[in-house]
Amino acid sequence: MKSLRLGRDRSLSFLDLPEPPPPEPEEVQVQMAYASICGYDMMMLSGRAAYPKDGCLGHEGSAIVTAVGSRVSPADFRVGDRGTIMPYASCGQCDACRSNRPEYCVEPGGRSDLMTERLNLSQKQIYRLPEEVSLQAGCLMEPLMMAMHAISKANLSYGRSVILLGCGAMGQIILKLVRRHPVGRVVVVEPDPEKRMAALRFGADMVLDPAGPGILFETLQASGGMGYDAVIEASGDRGSAQMALNIVARGGAVVYFGLYGMDFNLEVNLFSLYWKDAVISCVCVPSGQFPAALAMAGGLHLEEAVTAIYPFSAAIHAFEEKATGRHAKVMLRFLPPEELERRERGSIRPSNAAEGME
Ligand SMILES: [Zn+2]
Ligand SMILES: [Zn+2]
Repeated sequence: MKSLRLGRDRSLSFLDLPEPPPPEPEEVQVQMAYASICGYDMMMLSGRAAYPKDGCLGHEGSAIVTAVGSRVSPADFRVGDRGTIMPYASCGQCDACRSNRPEYCVEPGGRSDLMTERLNLSQKQIYRLPEEVSLQAGCLMEPLMMAMHAISKANLSYGRSVILLGCGAMGQIILKLVRRHPVGRVVVVEPDPEKRMAALRFGADMVLDPAGPGILFETLQASGGMGYDAVIEASGDRGSAQMALNIVARGGAVVYFGLYGMDFNLEVNLFSLYWKDAVISCVCVPSGQFPAALAMAGGLHLEEAVTAIYPFSAAIHAFEEKATGRHAKVMLRFLPPEELERRERGSIRPSNAAEGME
């Protein structure tokens, strides 16, 4: 079986691996269904993020259970169950873990090798998908959990104005969540015309193209000159990261969700922020939010954020496509579409995803 790996020269290739052994007592064995390409995978590929252990890739995935260990209760997992993989794990022993803050674990573990056909996973790292969540949406539980974390830092409330900078895959998921809150006006800034159209479909009141020198003025004007109560930066663009500080309203919050590279220093005018009494937040990995993400997912139609699906055998091409910037979420599928369709139970919302080339 194959596993996609990143070489030291940051090139992609398939590694031949033996099939996994029978699962250990508390493990389940899975056949991957989908894995999606994250912005972080792209940063590792481009060298803007550290080289991953063993060159492994993939931390967003859904799967089908193919075998269960002897101590796995059938109430939890049976062969044929559909699941989503929680990629993060904590040691359980360090001070952070023992203070109920496992997201700050000093020795975090987990799985980041989901671009592999078949795997044995600790049963703690897989959640059964609720009937109303498709395998495609189930692949997006980690991004949804991250988006929920960003929202929690944006202090959304009745009538608050929101601006979202960047409407790629994560921006689109964030926008869907913003629209679940009773906020006021929602403005989206996005350079790609198709992504601006997606923003309008997903509930933006206004979309702006950041091309050209007038974007700062345009965004402020669109807020009535007051700035925005919540500024969510999800483009990963350094200029946009800088602009975010200039468009936050007094008492507002700026949330940096994007990845800006290890060498980027933001210039902050502290006097201006003091006057605004504003908050700046960043978003790393939350914990304990995976069940909440699963509970939210049914009504969000996350498949709508998927713009291309490629068979796993075309994964290298899928990464090239993702690198063009044209796409929102790009997914790899590990089984033929008909078989995945058969594996789904319950109704699936049709996806607008275009099937990639074999
Ligand atoms: Zn991710
Ligand atoms: Zn720990």
